[in-house]
Amino acid sequence: METSLLSIDQLADAAAIIAAGGIVAFPTETVYGLGADATNASAISKIFLAKGRPSDNPLIVHVADLAGVARVAKEITPIAKTLMDAFWPGPLTIVMPRGDSVADELCAGLPTVAIRMPKHLVALELIRRSGVPLVAPSANRSGRPSGTTWEAVHEDLSGLVDAIVCGEPTELGLESTVIDITQSPPCVLRHGAISLKSIQAFVSDVVSVDELDSSDQVRKRKSPGTRHRHYQPKAQVLIANSPSFGTDTFEDGSISDGTSKSVVEEPVGIPASRAWIGLSSPSRREDWRIIRVCESPEDYARVLFSYFREIDRLGIDFIVCQVVPDAGIGRALMDRIRRASADE
Ligand code: AMP
Ligand code: MG
Repeated sequence: METSLLSIDQLADAAAIIAAGGIVAFPTETVYGLGADATNASAISKIFLAKGRPSDNPLIVHVADLAGVARVAKEITPIAKTLMDAFWPGPLTIVMPRGDSVADELCAGLPTVAIRMPKHLVALELIRRSGVPLVAPSANRSGRPSGTTWEAVHEDLSGLVDAIVCGEPTELGLESTVIDITQSPPCVLRHGAISLKSIQAFVSDVVSVDELDSSDQVRKRKSPGTRHRHYQPKAQVLIANSPSFGTDTFEDGSISDGTSKSVVEEPVGIPASRAWIGLSSPSRREDWRIIRVCESPEDYARVLFSYFREIDRLGIDFIVCQVVPDAGIGRALMDRIRRASADE
């Protein structure tokens, strides 16, 4: 398949491809999405195929208005309404009871459907022009870092999708916060730019899935996608607690994995081929092939996935990510970094 590169002025073409059952990548404020008509089961199956996505990992439906929600959700509960009023358009995905006409493939057979209204003019305009809600998982091959630039999408999906709408690099750089409101108490399944704390200001009893124990009943709440290998560059990802990693800690050869629970040995012989990303610079700059010092946790979140891809292009073997405090966007950022560093 030849992949057309479209400009943001060619949304009529993009919408026509979607109407014909094709799949088109487009920018949102979080990461690039791979869009298809959410009411077309065969278009949905093309998404799973192009991404190599496991069929038990459901998709997020993107809408431009409340009429779009009504097409896929069974009902809009008071909590849903509160969250939509507070955070939409924006990076909050709400898991709601699923409407009768929603394809099984979209929801991976679950009785629920995940819905979001993006805060991005191109994304909203494409949904409006398509005239249907769009399923739009992150536009990357499954298991790879999400695409945050059109070039990254092209790198993963060229020849596998009908078109890519070539917009700007994404503003946030991490995927949306996912909250399940179909169970009590409501539960944040995936952390993102909308923090647990900011949701608690509107829904006081909301909890985070990683704060719950792992009984069977609780495990059911877990976002199916969080079970899968995710966000991984080819390079091995290590987590460092301090900028002195590579000097002081080099001597005893240990760094923390960021959770303070376990300590991992620094692999032998890596200095020639390692990269650093963090909020401060490592102390011996000459030990690093490339160094990225971010201005803020927000900046760190915005560039993380494209940095992962850059070091893969450079053939670097190890990337060391500096820990940030687990607050605000830092929680989502550390979640992605920990997943990227996990063995499975
Ligand atoms: P992606 O679109 O690639 O960012 O991934 C979508 C995320 O939303 C994955 O973690 C999915 O498991 C999660 N998700 C989608 N639909 C549901 C649902 N009905 N219930 C729980 N999680 C969902
Ligand atoms: Mg994804």
